[in-house]
Amino acid sequence: MFRESIEKMAPYTPGEQPRPGERLIKLNTNENPYPPSPRVRRAVARVAAASLRLYPAPRADEFVASASKLYGVRKDMILAGNGSDELLTMIFRATLGPRDTVAYPVPTYSLYDTLATIQEARVLRFPVAKDFSIPLGELAKARAKLTIVCSPNSPSGILTRTSKLAGLAKALGNRLLVIDEAYVDFADENAIALLRRFPNVVILRTLSKSFSLAGMRLGLCFARPKIIDHLMKVKDSYNLSRVALVAGAEALNDSQWMRRNVERVKHTRETSIKRLRRMGFEVPDSSANFVLARIGGRDLAPMVAAIRKAGILVRHFATPMLRDAMRISIGTPAEMNALFKAIEANLKVLKLGGSALRAKAR
Ligand code: PMP
Repeated sequence: MFRESIEKMAPYTPGEQPRPGERLIKLNTNENPYPPSPRVRRAVARVAAASLRLYPAPRADEFVASASKLYGVRKDMILAGNGSDELLTMIFRATLGPRDTVAYPVPTYSLYDTLATIQEARVLRFPVAKDFSIPLGELAKARAKLTIVCSPNSPSGILTRTSKLAGLAKALGNRLLVIDEAYVDFADENAIALLRRFPNVVILRTLSKSFSLAGMRLGLCFARPKIIDHLMKVKDSYNLSRVALVAGAEALNDSQWMRRNVERVKHTRETSIKRLRRMGFEVPDSSANFVLARIGGRDLAPMVAAIRKAGILVRHFATPMLRDAMRISIGTPAEMNALFKAIEANLKVLKLGGSALRAKAR
């Protein structure tokens, strides 16, 4: 019934979402623990009362206008998506056919694998270094039709400096470089300025993390008008609802609200990193709203299952590269304290006490 590649492929597995009525502390899909701007709520109520009878704006004009103002990027260089996942789908659909090459560092956001498989594209995966820095030289040399760098990367939280990304964009010439900046509001720099310097750079943003709007599905793509025009050809006509469009516009118009929440998350991130390190975990410095905690060589699946029993979700990836790690989204200080308690109570699941863990980490 289906194309061979679809029959054979494994589906993308999203992080667990609680069932209706189930009360869990969610630290597994990098949502923001704080609510979106109250201006969003008011705008959503207004639009729900007024105009749902009509189709939404196909080019998301109001949302794009707010993005243009906030980021200082021309409107014809902005495309709005139903989450940045949809923008990634558009990019893969528009650029890759069977056997075309796509390159990215691994580990990274695993949806790239899924989208490449759907297109029957050839994936060139380049492992990150021990310190999680990305192999820029190899990515440049691969000269793939499409290169993707997630910065800050998931699950490491490591930012790739803009100067490094500039070097990669230059080396790739007229080949596309997509920079997935889903988490960049939690970092101390971003790559927007590269749009002016390089015609092959595409930048993706989402309102799911810093703007607390994962449930609304809003993403932004920035690129030269020619690239935007081609991506538009594979877009669903009305890809964002009227409700999402006003929510997105209002969230961007109230970016101060977002900034305040980002500062709170960053503060909790730093105290959480210290606490996890004291417990004996290895934790790289993070520029995102999550941290990766690992114990070299130990499969953390039992610990993650035990934490789940205590009502807390964190993300575990059952791959050879990541099974000794868990990715923890930064929640409120109270949620993090509940997590640390659960971890401490369950350290024995690993048959390692705190001091043994510390010795192992050294
Ligand atoms: N890029 C990365 C790196 C992500 O982690 C996510 C969230 N899973 C996305 C893009 C997609 O975000 P959204 O579709 O919610 O905008």
